[in-house]
Amino acid sequence: MKKEHLPVKVCQVCQRPFSWRKKWEKNWDQVLYCSKRCRGSKHRVLRDDEPVLSGCIQSMK
Ligand SMILES: [Zn+2]
Repeated sequence: MKKEHLPVKVCQVCQRPFSWRKKWEKNWDQVLYCSKRCRGSKHRVLRDDEPVLSGCIQSMK
């Protein structure tokens, strides 16, 4: 049960690394995003000249 051997990917939206999770065991190869929020903003990844704004959105409340 060594957790340090879990596979890691980099989120296509926020560019942060995230680890394998149990809920992804059947589709890990297709997982590209760390969260539903990032998956919902995946269109942003096509504009690499535009910064990802998810952090800003959260601080605008
Ligand atoms: Zn992400």
